[in-house]
Amino acid sequence: MSKKIKIIGVVTPGGDAPGMNTAIRAVVRTAIYNGLKMYGIERGWQGLIEGKIINLELQSVGGIINRGGTMLHTHRCPEFKQKTMRKKAVGNLRAFNIEGLVVIGGDGSIRASNELYKEYDLPIINIPASIDNDIYGTDYSIGFDTAVNTAVEAIDKIRDTATSHERVFVIEVMGRSNGFIALDVGLTSGAEAIIIPEVPHNLDAIGQKLRYGQQRGKSSFIVVVAEGAAKAEEVAAHLRRRTDLDVRVSVLGHMQRGGAPSALSREVACKLGARAVQLLIEGKGALMVGMLSDKIVETPIEEVIRKKKKIDLAAYKLASMLAT
Ligand code: ADP
Repeated sequence: MSKKIKIIGVVTPGGDAPGMNTAIRAVVRTAIYNGLKMYGIERGWQGLIEGKIINLELQSVGGIINRGGTMLHTHRCPEFKQKTMRKKAVGNLRAFNIEGLVVIGGDGSIRASNELYKEYDLPIINIPASIDNDIYGTDYSIGFDTAVNTAVEAIDKIRDTATSHERVFVIEVMGRSNGFIALDVGLTSGAEAIIIPEVPHNLDAIGQKLRYGQQRGKSSFIVVVAEGAAKAEEVAAHLRRRTDLDVRVSVLGHMQRGGAPSALSREVACKLGARAVQLLIEGKGALMVGMLSDKIVETPIEEVIRKKKKIDLAAYKLASMLAT
């Protein structure tokens, strides 16, 4: 039987997402209640290479359940793709007798964890945290629901001015390589069109849809664009040429990353944080915890990396139909 783990670390190496702090709190408190010693690694993999490792107690994570960002800070670290840097990082873990890691982050954090696991057989459990929600093996990654709510709130406000002035607003939301945010935001804000990388778009057809709506007396139009699918300014310029509508652009930008995590982001963070620690206690590693159909599940990280999460095309068609 494998020796029982006694000391673990937690790190947030990727882009920040609202609810990461909630997950850190869940990890730290579950670990300490189970008699483990807990360390936090500051500034992601960069901090691990530099040995920025701090002691975490029950009170260290007090008052953060509702705070956006990550109390451990994060820092992009391209050097972590080099074996020598990972060796240095693992040397620092050993110096603190850290026997297992909880890694909270997105696709890049998971890939890095896989490298560490393959090279050092280090027990690691990943918790998906990314506003993009593009991670295979979970319906929700921490932060996604908050980012969607932030964008929808902003669009509701923009809709008020759009209606008053009878305008079209092309609104760019985050999502460099996928349309998960744009699709949810478009569906729930009643956008007349959604442009995402996964589905080919036709700007002439969108222009026609807007004109048709105008003829029927519609007074405002929202086009949601995922940043990776098209440039909002170019979409707007095309629609101006094809319709006589007043077309404006709004790029929501980094506001989508911040703010207090929503109840759902917090719930996912609490449940996955606790489960991650339990898995390390059970002697498991190389797994990502996730939520599928409201159940906590584990998927091997090698499978998470290999497989691609699919966009919900039925939801895309539904959004289009409802906003005709
Ligand atoms: P996220 O976890 O939000 O997807 P990144 O893509 O920036 O964020 O990844 C987080 C960090 O993980 C990077 O800064 C880098 O240090 C490390 N990383 C990403 N991909 C790899 C990889 N293939 N091998 C080793 N380290 C990686």
